[in-house]
Amino acid sequence: MNLAALAGELRPMLQGSVRVNELMSNHTTWRIGGPADIFIDPVGKEDVQRAVRYARVKGIPLTVIGNGSNLLVRDGGIRGMVIKIGRGLSDITVAGNEIKAGAGAMLPELAAAARRAGLGGFEFAAGIPGSLGGAVVMNAGAMNGCVADVLKSVLVLDERNEFVLLSKEELAFSYRSSLLQKKQYICLETSWVGYPKDRAVIEQETRDYLAKRKSLQPQGWPNAGSVFKNPPGDSAGRLIEAAQGKGLRVGDAEVSPKHANWILNLGQATATDVLSLIKQVQHLVQERFGVALHLEVRVLGED
Ligand SMILES: Cc1cc2nc3c(=O)[nH]c(=O)nc-3n(C[C@H](O)[C@H](O)[C@H](O)COP(=O)(O)OP(=O)(O)OC[C@H]3O[C@@H](n4cnc5c(N)ncnc54)[C@H](O)[C@@H]3O)c2cc1C
Repeated sequence: MNLAALAGELRPMLQGSVRVNELMSNHTTWRIGGPADIFIDPVGKEDVQRAVRYARVKGIPLTVIGNGSNLLVRDGGIRGMVIKIGRGLSDITVAGNEIKAGAGAMLPELAAAARRAGLGGFEFAAGIPGSLGGAVVMNAGAMNGCVADVLKSVLVLDERNEFVLLSKEELAFSYRSSLLQKKQYICLETSWVGYPKDRAVIEQETRDYLAKRKSLQPQGWPNAGSVFKNPPGDSAGRLIEAAQGKGLRVGDAEVSPKHANWILNLGQATATDVLSLIKQVQHLVQERFGVALHLEVRVLGED
């Protein structure tokens, strides 16, 4: 595949940018990941549709990302086309109790829009560094709130490359999971419903909540938040800590001494380092407690 030629064909079709051999470490919060062959930052949902159509016609593999805050991209990078749903699809509008937002808007922006409008239910979103699309895929949540509590519907591109509106019920949400992890749909727009709540109360609760997060979470090193899902009725962080996993290190990847479910990139960590550390932690917890830890982060690309 001649990447420069493909990019040359794509550029006139799209409003957004098209890059070749773009390092995914620039697009993941872990700051890890090799190059994507073709990297597209679309502007508007029609751009996404045109890029997907092109990829399908040419038989190019397709990967969609949001803010890369739940992604481990392997060191060999991603073959084919990566579409980042970001600033080009990030408009937010509020009408009554409803908020409509592009899937590239960020959770803290959604929380801020709700706060300004005096709408409750979105407080949990203030501290999570994900796009709305990624948040829907992951059913992101924190502190007793999650996407499924306030989402109304999403507009997606389906497998036929057509725009389809899906209701919350159709998204089959459960803990850190949704239909969009099984279907290759691309989330483009989101609709949410809040409830009237005093602005001063929302502001105070948000401040308290952000302060609590800051005190519990490691600061200063690139990371992807929680690496493992919590097993039913338990906490992955507690299990890893009790199995003496805190501070384990492979290369520049370290299990945070502050929060055992976080792996930090202390500078030059590679995906190989992180994956090797993940295996060690899983082995440790399995040996000690007989519990299998499953990944919350999504692993993409090749070695
Ligand atoms: C410091 C920190 C704190 C965090 N705290 C929390 C927390 O409290 N609670 C929590 O739940 N998570 C937390 N996370 C994890 C992460 O922010 C969430 O999972 C977030 O929802 C991921 O969104 P994203 O846009 O970064 O998605 P990405 O990481 O880019 O992608 C995640 C998955 O969604 C897919 N995807 C992304 N966008 C789309 C789209 N538009 N259409 C289709 N598929 C898409 C990707 O292919 C991938 O499989 C934290 C992460 C960090 C770094």
